[in-house]
Amino acid sequence: MSVLQKVMNQQNELLGYWFICPGCKAASMGGAHYIPVNPNKNSLGAGWNFDGNEEKPTFTPSVLGKAKYGDDQKEQRCHLFVKVGQIQYLSDCDHEFAGQTVPMVKIEEV
Ligand SMILES: [Zn+2]
Repeated sequence: MSVLQKVMNQQNELLGYWFICPGCKAASMGGAHYIPVNPNKNSLGAGWNFDGNEEKPTFTPSVLGKAKYGDDQKEQRCHLFVKVGQIQYLSDCDHEFAGQTVPMVKIEEV
């Protein structure tokens, strides 16, 4: 089991990874983040650098997730660093993990 799930395109080329986000999960804000690895980009044109360690990954720069959740569709923010297999939540997160550092969660094999 790994803490990352590979995302491949139709040509079987690696686009990036997704990982479980305990903060978003606890707040019913989804529960995972997708990280395209450079030169791949997400829909906003952002891509990340990955150190190649799938057991204890480091991605740079930080990851900022913003989306509307809940009955009132209020915009919620999740802002974190992934460093050496740890998720460091910044204090501007809207969920209860703000300011905390937690180990990444292993993804069950499917
Ligand atoms: Zn999150």
